[in-house]
Amino acid sequence: MLPEALARQIITDHSQHPRGRGEIAGVPHATRENPGCGDQVTVWARVEGGRLLEVRFTGRGCAISQASASLMTQALAGKGLEEARALAARYRAMVMGEAPPDLALGDLVALEGVSRLHARRKCALLAWQALEAALAGPHE
Ligand code: ZN
Repeated sequence: MLPEALARQIITDHSQHPRGRGEIAGVPHATRENPGCGDQVTVWARVEGGRLLEVRFTGRGCAISQASASLMTQALAGKGLEEARALAARYRAMVMGEAPPDLALGDLVALEGVSRLHARRKCALLAWQALEAALAGPHE
């Protein structure tokens, strides 16, 4: 578990200076919304040879939803699909409070505190649900 101040710093940094922001032309993408918080995230995923070569997002909303999307694009870029799904499952378990933070999650552990804020769990999972939908198709 990260010290809370460091976790907050990572979330603020990624929400104010998001990585992996933008569209990727011609690849599967999907949008998910969280009306309760006004969050909206669209995720683009370029998959080649069973690997997530590039993940990008656009969207708006609270710091948690945007930081989570930014951290996700960094955590998953270059990963094999199976590895990416395993990481997504670990992340989800952490956010839902079902499993402790896992070192394999890297900076994503900054969002561990969301597990204690039930209303914010949707914010932290939004980008991941959009990615899942983009990978599942049909292409939107
Ligand atoms: Zn939110």
